Amino acid sequence: RADQALYAAKAAGRGRCELDGGEVSDLARDLAVALTHGDVAVHFQPILQVATDDVVGVEALARWTHPERGPVSPSEFVAVAEQHGLITALGEHVLRQTCTQLAALHAATGRRLRVGVNVSGIELSDPTYPDRVRAVFADTGWPAEEVVLEVTESLLDAESATSVATLHALRDLGLKVAIDDFGTGYSSLSRLDTLPIDVLKVDHSFIAAITTSPRRTQMLRSIVALAGALGMDVVAEGVETPEQDLLLRSVGCTFEQGWLHGRPMPVAELQATLERRDGELTRATG
Ligand code: C2E
Ligand code: MG
Ligand code: MG
Ligand code: MG
Repeated sequence: RADQALYAAKAAGRGRCELDGGEVSDLARDLAVALTHGDVAVHFQPILQVATDDVVGVEALARWTHPERGPVSPSEFVAVAEQHGLITALGEHVLRQTCTQLAALHAATGRRLRVGVNVSGIELSDPTYPDRVRAVFADTGWPAEEVVLEVTESLLDAESATSVATLHALRDLGLKVAIDDFGTGYSSLSRLDTLPIDVLKVDHSFIAAITTSPRRTQMLRSIVALAGALGMDVVAEGVETPEQDLLLRSVGCTFEQGWLHGRPMPVAELQATLERRDGELTRATG
């Protein structure tokens, strides 16, 4: 798999040579090497269930520290991976790491967290994707039912028959599907109706304005009601302040994710955080 990544990067490099006279993308080459060596890490950000104040889920987020440049933002290296034929290797690495690490966390603590995994449109347009995903679950023992694939609205704008068929095949395996960054793209209500969607993740940029704009507050209320009526969960992304948290609770939002409740962190830190929360709960109630 890793060799395939390196090969893909070399092939991509060759492709570029023809285009721009010898310039191979340094970042793509270094990312391919990092994938070969397992140097791309996965961090987990807590997702809080509002009704219980419990961390019931996490989002898996890829992390890469370049040997010379330092940490590279995922938005940047995911785009590089998409452009250089590395996204399949990156996506599979992240999914495999995620399932392996959360299975170990479950074995150690008895806690089974639901996990959001970001998926690129390129992965979804590949008809072999569901088979490769199924192999990861078979190898790691992690249940497909506890994975939520996060896809963006823009991806669904460019929806192809293959991607939609893939989404249905993944659903048949037991996975859930979330619309990520909801409210930033060109939202289509008919797609909310026709596509198999379990969760709406309301984008950070929208959440940022809910406490200062009464109209945004009303829109948020309507989104929560719409999701509820369609049987979808709502996750508010980028929750940073207690004021936002209070407002989200008052409109009946079911889940929250953001720095207020925890940053993305390595699995060991996540385990320590969960154990500390449990301890606080025991002291508070017992
Ligand atoms: P996303 O899926 O919307 O992930 C949420 C982003 O919001 C993350 O940025 C997270 O660190 C950040 N965030 C969380 N809480 C807060 C908050 O309270 N305030 C603010 N300002 N930001 C917050 P990150 O980790 O930089 O990832 C950026 C994007 O890169 C992700 O957006 C996702 O689209 C993409 N990405 C990350 N990992 C992967 C991956 O494994 N595969 C793919 N295809 N894309 C990935
Ligand atoms: Mg996401
Ligand atoms: Mg998002
Ligand atoms: Mg986002």
